[in-house]
Amino acid sequence: MISKLLKAARKIVFKFGSSTLSDREGRIDTAFLAEFARQCADFIKNGKQLIIVSSGAQTAGLSAMGKWARKKDIHYRQALCAVGQVMLMKEWECAFEPLSLNVAQILLTQDDFGNSQRTLNMRNTLFTLVDEGVIPIINENDTVSVEEIKIGDNDTLAAQSAILWSADLLVLFSDIDGVYTKNPQKNTDAELIPQVTDIDELRKKISMDGISAFGTGGIETKINAAALVKPYGISSIITRGKPASLEALLNGSVNGTVFTA
Ligand code: ADP
Repeated sequence: MISKLLKAARKIVFKFGSSTLSDREGRIDTAFLAEFARQCADFIKNGKQLIIVSSGAQTAGLSAMGKWARKKDIHYRQALCAVGQVMLMKEWECAFEPLSLNVAQILLTQDDFGNSQRTLNMRNTLFTLVDEGVIPIINENDTVSVEEIKIGDNDTLAAQSAILWSADLLVLFSDIDGVYTKNPQKNTDAELIPQVTDIDELRKKISMDGISAFGTGGIETKINAAALVKPYGISSIITRGKPASLEALLNGSVNGTVFTA
């Protein structure tokens, strides 16, 4: 099913959480980005278009401003993201540069999605970038995102971006194979759910808890993201991001949860 969906989709949004983008030391995993970029380049050669929604600004910022690690003050956290966002983009740029692919940074807030003029501008920019072979890398604009205008998690941002761009498929890469009947980190008898057609039924059937060290969303925001895009005819896949696995997804050798539109 995963392989079939991926082969059929032309416009795909890939979303990465910080846990997938980080290495064991909590730094941006450069080797992972390079390998993923290589696989993206193959995708593009085969006629696919893609957008990346990337967390990791805070992670990248901490590598540079380690002395801020314990500062919980909102101004420091926003400042950290401002520092880290530059580094994050530098990492993505370095990953795609050897493949002669350009990347573009797009930083958004909830406000942007609520304003029709801004929405139109964003949509046009996305279409132009992708048509010209540039890879848009989207993240929340944490510097301006105070609580009231915060999207809050990049699963939702990825879903909103997928709708805006009229994507065919949303792929949410996580530190987990997919949605389980209960949190598999805590329950050895948890079972993977390979396919979901009724999201309300799924919510009744499973229990969700625990967010990974880096994560802000948890599995619930991923399920909500799949529910958000479904009415627009966009299918979703939740699967493990590491090791970089576009090829494995294509040949059907990885597990995941598919939400069919
Ligand atoms: P990411 O950082 O990749 O966005 P998150 O850490 O936010 O990922 O969310 C994934 C985590 O959700 C898993 O590592 C797992 O511990 C937790 N989780 C809780 N309940 C479930 C469930 N029913 N199925 C799958 N994962 C679950």
